Amino acid sequence: MKYYNSNTIIYLDGAFEKAVNSSTDLYGQSLHYGYAAFEGIRAYKTHNGNRIFKAAAHFDRLERSCQLANIPFPWDKQELIAATYKLLQLNKLKDAYIRPLVFCHPNMKLNEPSGVSILICAWEWDAYSGNKLLKLTVSDYERPNPKSVPMEAKLSGNYVNSILATTAANIKGYDEALLLDMHGFVAEASGANIFLEKDGKLYTPSPGNILSGITRATVKELCNVLDIECVEKKLTIEDLKKADSAFLCGTATEIAGIASIDDIVYRPLWRESIGYTIQRAYKNLVLEKVNYEVII
Ligand code: PMP
Repeated sequence: MKYYNSNTIIYLDGAFEKAVNSSTDLYGQSLHYGYAAFEGIRAYKTHNGNRIFKAAAHFDRLERSCQLANIPFPWDKQELIAATYKLLQLNKLKDAYIRPLVFCHPNMKLNEPSGVSILICAWEWDAYSGNKLLKLTVSDYERPNPKSVPMEAKLSGNYVNSILATTAANIKGYDEALLLDMHGFVAEASGANIFLEKDGKLYTPSPGNILSGITRATVKELCNVLDIECVEKKLTIEDLKKADSAFLCGTATEIAGIASIDDIVYRPLWRESIGYTIQRAYKNLVLEKVNYEVII
């Protein structure tokens, strides 16, 4: 994947500049300690023009992540959203992935940042990911205890855990890792939340030991619209086994059906699952098609 070329423009602390001319300080606290906060946002080409899906929710979470980690956030979020739209325009991007990153200036001490910067970059992304069903494995790595790092914050350092889990899963031939929390309850995938379907209802882990994502919230909103009961509770490996179907959701993942988790193979067919209905509804929502029920 090539994220930029010689023409790519990035946004850095209020200025638009060429990615190839930008640099960062090698003594930065973020580089050394993973002390940074970031977002992953999608832009879609819709019939109403290019739209950043839930831009305000993402920049709100970026600010909240910084607050939870004592990283200053001295920016106006409306200005950041406007700058992100301009960034897409300058790079002629329509279907895109957007990555804002708040990073800390040089400081080798383990104390408060000496200063902060904000970078926003974006790259092209497929219009909508396909219908490939994922093969998951339950990871030997656990999600970190929220008493050691705030799990509701999207902090760079937390993603070492995600990288370790994904790499181990990929080496074993799986697409994704499913991680448990420190009590052995189902938490989330390395970069997405999980929903299970059982007897016509959806179940998803309660917040607390997970990053309860913006897509997860959107799925709950769609459940309200579509009159699907959705329950938040602690889920066990036994619940995974008993489920009729399951799916992951996240900004990048969108809604992705799960074929299997280790030796648990889901039936019935994905097209008969609630996840499939949610997948179609989500696609209509991000593409701003008014009627959720429209068959696509
Ligand atoms: N959990 C983790 C660990 C993630 O990295 C993500 C992706 N941001 C999610 C869940 C899903 O969050 P969202 O729907 O806000 O993208």
